[in-house]
Amino acid sequence: MSYQTVNPFTDEIIKTYDNHDDAYVEEAITKGHALYKKWRNDPVASRADALHSLANLIESKTDELAKILTIEMGKRLVEAKGEVAITVAIARYYAEHGAEFLKPRDIISSIGPAQIISRPTGVLMMVEPWNFPYYQIMRVFAPNYMAGNPMLLKHASNTPLAAATFERLVKEAGLPEGVFTNLFIDYDQVNKIIADDRVQGVALTGSERAGQLVAAEAGKYLKQSSLELGGSDPFIVLDDANLSEIKKIIGGARLHNAGQVCSSSKRFIVTERNYDKVLDMLKTAFSEVVLGDPLRPETTLAPLSTKKAKQNLTKQVQAAVDAGATIAFGSVEQSQPAALFEPVILTNITKENPAFYQEFFGPVGEIFKVKDEAEAIALANDSHYGLSGVVFGADAEHAAEVAAQIETGVVFVNSFGGTLPELPFGGVKNSGYGRELGDLGIDTFVNKETIVTK
Ligand code: NAP
Repeated sequence: MSYQTVNPFTDEIIKTYDNHDDAYVEEAITKGHALYKKWRNDPVASRADALHSLANLIESKTDELAKILTIEMGKRLVEAKGEVAITVAIARYYAEHGAEFLKPRDIISSIGPAQIISRPTGVLMMVEPWNFPYYQIMRVFAPNYMAGNPMLLKHASNTPLAAATFERLVKEAGLPEGVFTNLFIDYDQVNKIIADDRVQGVALTGSERAGQLVAAEAGKYLKQSSLELGGSDPFIVLDDANLSEIKKIIGGARLHNAGQVCSSSKRFIVTERNYDKVLDMLKTAFSEVVLGDPLRPETTLAPLSTKKAKQNLTKQVQAAVDAGATIAFGSVEQSQPAALFEPVILTNITKENPAFYQEFFGPVGEIFKVKDEAEAIALANDSHYGLSGVVFGADAEHAAEVAAQIETGVVFVNSFGGTLPELPFGGVKNSGYGRELGDLGIDTFVNKETIVTK
C-alpha cells in the first residue's frame, strides 16, 4: 500500500510517502501508553487549555490547511475552509464541555453512596477516510484527548499530507508526546495494533467492508469499536412541503463535497403531488453546476477524490442503467478529464436493481415517486443503511412524527442541517454503531467506573 498525494484535478503525483515500520509503530504505542498511565491521575479539565491552543493554531492556518485539502483530495477551496472551521469548532466544543460531560455522577445504592467516575481506557487506533480529512480526525481526537485516551491514526492512503499536517500541528500546539501519532501503515499493521494489549479500542469511519474487517479484528481481541460507515439517506418530500425552501437547498444536499458525503441526501422520495416539480428542481440544480478546478472560486462542483473513484462510480451508474434505471439528467459516459465527474440523476430504480440498495458516493442523485406518506416511510426504511435523513413538510410537528419513524441515526426536519459539534452523529443498521460528536461522542472509549462505599 502506498501513501501518495495526487492532485485529482490535474492527475499530478505530488509526493509519495515511505511506510512506517513496526519499530516506529512500537515506539508510538509505548509513548501513548506511558501518557495514558500519567493521564489516569490528571483531572480532565487540565487538558482543556492545550486543546484550545490547537484550535487557535488550526484556525490561524486556515488558508494553508484548506489548500492542502483542495490539492490532495479535490475539495473546493471554499468547502475546504468550511471544513477547517468545523474542525476548530469541534476542538473548542470539547475543550469547553469535556470536563462537564465526564464529571462524576452520584447514585444511592442499598449498600451505600456510589459514584460513577469516567476513566480513560488506553491507547486508541483510529482509521479515517479521505472525504473530510481533518474533520474526521477531530471528531475522534478532541473527545478522546479530553477523556485521556492517546491516539494512533491510520488515515486514507490518498490523504497523507493532511494526516501528517494534523500531527505536526498537534506537536506545534504543545500537546504532550505520545498523544497522537500518524502512521503510514498497511492493514496488517493495523490488525497488529488492535491486537496489542496496550491498545483498548478502534474507531473507524469508512466503507461497510472496512468496518466489517476492522470490527472483526476488534472482536477477536475483545476491544471496543465504533463504526461510522456509509449511508443512502432519504430526503422525503411530503404533500404539504414548502417547495421554495427545498429549491434553496436541494443541490447542496446532494452535491456538497462533490457528493462524497456519508450523510448527504442520496434518495429523494417524493409524493406524487410534488414529484415533477422536485425532479425539475433537482435537474435545474444539477444543470447549474460549474464543474472544474477546485481552486477557482467560480467552480461549484469539484472533481472526485481519485480517478479510481470516478471509474467505480461510472461502472455503478452503468450497472444501474443496465438493470433498468432511467437517466433523467446527465449520461453514463464521462467526457471530462482526470477525476471530474458530470452529475447524473437516476429514476425508475426498482427493488431488483442492485442500485436500489447501494450507496452512490459522488454526484449521482436517485429520485423515487411514492403514492403517499406511508409509502415514503416504507421506502426510506427499505435500506441496508440508516445514517441520517431529511423530511420536509409544512406541518413541522407532523413532519417530526414522520422523522421519528425513519430507522436512522439523525433526521433533519425542514432543513438540511449538516454537522455541528453539539449534535451526536452516527448510524444504525449497516451504517455502523456508536456515536461521535455531542455529549454522547465522548463516552465510547471511557470506562464508567462505579465506586460503592459502605
Ligand atoms: P474505505 O475504503 O473503507 O477507507 C476508509 C479508511 O479505512 C481508509 O483509511 C482505508 O485505508 C481504511 N481501510 C480500508 N480497509 C481496511 C482494512 N481492512 N483494515 C484497515 N484499514 C482499512 O472507505 P472509502 O470508500 O474510501 O470512504 C467512503 C466510505 O466512507 C463511504 O461509504 C462513506 O459513506 C463512508 N463514510 C462514513 C462517514 C460516517 O461518519 N458515517 C463519514 C465519511 C465517510 P486505505 O485508504 O489505505 O485503503
